[in-house]
Amino acid sequence: MSITNHQFQLASRPVGAVQRSDFHYVGEALRALADGEVQIKVLHVSLDPAMRGWMNESKESYMPPVAIGEVMRAIGVGRVTASANPAFAVGQHVVGLLGVQEYAISNGQGLNKVDPALAPLPMYLSALGMPGLTAYFGLLDVGQPKAGETVVVSGAAGAVGTLVGQIAKLKGARVVGIAGGTDKCRYLVEELGFDAAIDYKSEDVGAALQRLCPRGIDVFFDNVGGDMLDAALARLALHARVVICGAISQYNSTGPVKGPANYLQLLVKRATMKGIMVADYYPRATEAMTEMGGWIAAGKLKTREDVVQGLESFPETFQRLFSGENKGKLVLQLAAE
Ligand code: NAP
Repeated sequence: MSITNHQFQLASRPVGAVQRSDFHYVGEALRALADGEVQIKVLHVSLDPAMRGWMNESKESYMPPVAIGEVMRAIGVGRVTASANPAFAVGQHVVGLLGVQEYAISNGQGLNKVDPALAPLPMYLSALGMPGLTAYFGLLDVGQPKAGETVVVSGAAGAVGTLVGQIAKLKGARVVGIAGGTDKCRYLVEELGFDAAIDYKSEDVGAALQRLCPRGIDVFFDNVGGDMLDAALARLALHARVVICGAISQYNSTGPVKGPANYLQLLVKRATMKGIMVADYYPRATEAMTEMGGWIAAGKLKTREDVVQGLESFPETFQRLFSGENKGKLVLQLAAE
């Protein structure tokens, strides 16, 4: 019996915020496997801000754009349902670039096995997956916080930000998070143990940083860019490290990306500003997962996944990343485990 595979294909390059009309939602018969291939039933799709960049016709990115007519690229976790590859058995769970679709066919490259008995599957898309590696290595390898230093993280209540702040606390730093809304700020301080939080929607970020970081910012982990980056640059401590992880405030912009007017503070404070690309750290994933897994098991690191049901809601659910409606790692659940 043939299987119909529903998927979202990119229909046009979005201008500004993503619209449903930027995609075609189609159902196509799943083809037979060739030698070496595996068929995977996709259970959870990870919705990541980077996907917005993959929709653009950019020649200068770290990955080629998704082609028009191609299934939308996304990380996912699923179960092997048929296999012509001896490395993968039917019933095993895997994580990889499975796409926004019900079934993926893969040659096995880039697929990693995960164990649902060790952690709930959505956690392999958050702390035990790509955002976890980003937070761990972005903070510890690039930011290099020392005990007693002040770490500030923007996008603090999200998948990466919540982990960055908690890891910084575990390493003995003082942590200030910047997030949108009183609920998110309360969550950071009361549930995750941040020392303070700034609600950028109701406070002047520059003034709040001045009040909360009287000795300056030693590590600024930036997920937001734009004005937020500028405000932090104005408050750097001597020899500060600025980690450029993302710039979500700029991803839907139809004009030029807003760069930092205060960049000369890097000179004045003998500071560094460096980008983190998670893919560079995949060879060291075990190192991070071992330590993070230990912290989670010991109750020292909390993760929160915001799981939304149903493939068909993809365009609207994806937009939550930009409206700030997601509470933790945004995941689309397609099927039961
Ligand atoms: P997330 O933080 O879980 O979700 C995005 C959050 O960004 C929203 O909840 C919203 O929170 C905030 N936001 C959206 N638009 C904003 C704006 N205009 N100004 C300020 N805040 C805004 O997403 P994530 O997966 O953890 O990703 C966070 C950042 O890390 C993104 O920039 C992403 O591209 C980057 N990233 C980089 C790498 C890498 O290898 N470099 C890997 C993974 C992720 P509020 O309610 O607080 O506004």
